[in-house]
Amino acid sequence: MTALPQPPLVLSFEDARHIVEEHAARLRARSKELVDLLDCRGRILAENIAADRNFPPFRRAARDGYAVLAADLAQTPASLTVIGEIKAGAAPEEIPALQPGQAAAIMTGAPAPVGADAVVMVEYTSRKGDLVEITRGIDAGGNIVAVGAEAKRGARLLSPGMKLDYAAISVAASVGRVHLLVYAKPRVAVLATGDEIVDIDLSPGPNQIRNSNSYSLAAQVQAAGGEPVLLPVAPDEPNRLRELIADGLEMDLLLLAGGVSMGKYDLVEQVLAELQSEFFFTGAQIQPGKPVVFGRVPCGAGAPARDSSEKRVTDEFKYFFGLPGNPVSTMVTFELFARPVLEALAGSTPRKLVFLHAKLKSEVRTKLGLKRFLPAILSGEFEQAEVELARWQGSGDIAALALANCYIVIPPDRESIPAGEWVPVLMR
Ligand code: AMP
Ligand code: MG
Repeated sequence: MTALPQPPLVLSFEDARHIVEEHAARLRARSKELVDLLDCRGRILAENIAADRNFPPFRRAARDGYAVLAADLAQTPASLTVIGEIKAGAAPEEIPALQPGQAAAIMTGAPAPVGADAVVMVEYTSRKGDLVEITRGIDAGGNIVAVGAEAKRGARLLSPGMKLDYAAISVAASVGRVHLLVYAKPRVAVLATGDEIVDIDLSPGPNQIRNSNSYSLAAQVQAAGGEPVLLPVAPDEPNRLRELIADGLEMDLLLLAGGVSMGKYDLVEQVLAELQSEFFFTGAQIQPGKPVVFGRVPCGAGAPARDSSEKRVTDEFKYFFGLPGNPVSTMVTFELFARPVLEALAGSTPRKLVFLHAKLKSEVRTKLGLKRFLPAILSGEFEQAEVELARWQGSGDIAALALANCYIVIPPDRESIPAGEWVPVLMR
């Protein structure tokens, strides 16, 4: 029987996070698929997207106003003869060429006429019949966007590994892509453990607790770009637990919840150790979530071996996280540690975890020694972001977490933080 790491590998938050990031950086997505653009939000792009034409494709008026020759406005006010009107979508033959002393009314998005080198905003003009009087000179930039100024034909606009949000989808639409090649979603096994845990479609006995962790994890997996596969709840009994872990190792990633504390029936690590697991950490100096476990099982030992010409880390090992079973701990440790591995398996370019800052509304007191991620409520308006702790009863308090919208991050060396101080915040 393989033993657990002795002494337990309890790392600082930062060291634990860096280890996860190092492994994530070596992981790749399994395969690619073509998806309708309307279904691409949140998916990870698996191809380069290049400009299929110049952006803009013609010299585009950026304002409603009058197309003019800048030289005609060396002195203002100036009076010019209006020779026509150019709408967005105007065909080339509808567009008059401008001579000195002439102007053409033009709309935002219309092609600028030959000869014109600026558009004077309509607010700076007054029209009298065929004449327009211009009271102010040309704005910086001239309000005409040159052909290809935003992107030259062939330029790369989006790269593989980008998460497709509305702005990236706008780019794909603008180059005429009806479908995009994206990475397949990794399948993530979710295995809740505990003799007291019952499924949510059963009515719990007085000593039982409904399985919320499988569902919160499924939602987190989906949000991070994975496909959750819920396994039956494992009892605190090694044989059945071993079977379910083996099933979980068939997937791309295994998330366990519960059974990783120091209790006599916390068997998860022991069963994983029997499978020749490598443990990278078996705890982190954080609260909630201190007993969090990260490791991997070599394929062939517990995880099924894969036949593949192209060897990838995921073909040699299956990664797992043993997340503490307290529901808030489960959710927080997923975000802090499991998310980057899942994102990497989903094809995402790895990103660093960054905290924002907000002003603390009321004093916070904690104990020294652990980095804390405490459920909190961010409020305020515009530039006045304020944050305060959600009133919670500890790591089991799901209702408090549901009302919170972020976590205040408290360093291990702070016992109290006064109201008014800027504190780091992890958004949810
Ligand atoms: P454990 O990490 O197994 O020691 O569990 C810690 C606490 O979390 C216990 O109070 C469990 O009842 C609770 N818990 C464990 N798993 C779940 C779950 N799947 N859903 C809800 N609560 C759970
Ligand atoms: Mg348990």
